[in-house]
Amino acid sequence: MSATIKHSLVVPCYNEEDNVAAFLAAAEAAMDGYTADYEIVFVNDGSTDRTQQELDRLFEAHPQLHLQIIRFSRNFGKEAAMLAGLRAAKGEYVTIIDADLQQQPEIAVKMGRLLDEKPEIDMVAAYQNGRKESKYIEWCKETFYKVLNRITEVEIIPDASDFRTLRRPVVEAVLSMTEYHRFSKGIFSWVGYTTESIPYEVQERKAGQTKWGFWKLLRYAANGIVAYTDVPLKWPVFMSIVMLIAAALTAIVSLILLLCGQAVPASAWVAALVLLLSSALSFNQGVLGLYLGKVHTQVKERPIYIVKEKRSYEQD
Ligand code: UDP
Ligand code: MG
Repeated sequence: MSATIKHSLVVPCYNEEDNVAAFLAAAEAAMDGYTADYEIVFVNDGSTDRTQQELDRLFEAHPQLHLQIIRFSRNFGKEAAMLAGLRAAKGEYVTIIDADLQQQPEIAVKMGRLLDEKPEIDMVAAYQNGRKESKYIEWCKETFYKVLNRITEVEIIPDASDFRTLRRPVVEAVLSMTEYHRFSKGIFSWVGYTTESIPYEVQERKAGQTKWGFWKLLRYAANGIVAYTDVPLKWPVFMSIVMLIAAALTAIVSLILLLCGQAVPASAWVAALVLLLSSALSFNQGVLGLYLGKVHTQVKERPIYIVKEKRSYEQD
C-alpha cells in the first residue's frame, strides 16, 4: 500500500509496554481531526519488556492505519531511534514525539497547522512550559546550555526538546548529517532554517519511568559539547600561557631579590623551571589539539553548507 503521506509521527520507544497502545489511541484521535494521510513510525529501541509484542499486536489490529514498526537489535539510545525514524518517515511534515504521552499528540497537530498557515516557517519546535523536574536537574540543564551556547556555534534554547515538526527539506538536511555521535538539539540548530517555537505543558509520564538518570544526562551533556566544539582541545594553549607568565614572574622576582643581595631559596628556581617545562608541554599538547580539532571537524563529514532555495534562469 503506497500513499502520499502528509504528516509522519516518529516515536522512539524504550520499554514503553504500558504506553504504546494509549499513545496510538491518543495519536489517532488527534490526527484524525487533522488529516487522513498520516503515518506513525514506532522505533523500538531494544526494549527488554513487552513493547515489541504490544507494537506487533497494534500493527495487526489496525490494518487501516499507516504504521511502521522498526525494531532495533539492542538499545542504541534515543538519538539512534530518532535517526532511524526520520530515515523511514515519508511525510511532508515529520514530528518527533515521545511514547510516554508527556508530549500530547494534539500539539503535533498544532505544529502541523502552523506549518500549513505559515509557508515561511520550516520547523516548529515545542518548548517545555513549566518543567516537571527537580530544581537540581533544572539548574544542571540551564548551566549546561549556557556553557554550550557560549562555546559553540549553535544556539540552543534551554527549554527546547526534541519534540518538533520538520518540513521535508529540513528532514533531508538533518539526514545529510551523517555523524556518528549525534546530538539532535545541536543538529536542529546547526542546519539553520526558520524555526518557530511554541510552548507546551509537559504532562506526567503515563506509565513506566524516565530513562534519564544523572549519569546518562551527564554523558549526554559531554557528548553534546564534544560534538559541537573543539574548544576544550585548545585549552592547553591558554594554560601554557598562564604557566609561562607564572614562570617568568617567579624568575624575575627571584632575580630582583638576588640582585638586592637577598637569599633566594633553591626551591624558587626549581618552581620557575617546573612551570617553564609544564608550559612547554602544555603548549605542545595544545598544538596537537589544534590539529586534532581540524580532524574532528573533518571526520564528521558534515555538509559544508545547506541550500534552502535556489533560483536560476535554467529550469531543472
Ligand atoms: N527512549 C529511547 N531510547 C532510550 C531512552 C529513551 O527510545 O535509550 C525514548 C523513550 O521511550 C521515550 C523518549 O525516548 O519515548 C523519552 O524518554 P524518557 O521519557 O525516558 O525521557 P524524559 O521524558 O524523562 O526526558
Ligand atoms: Mg518522558
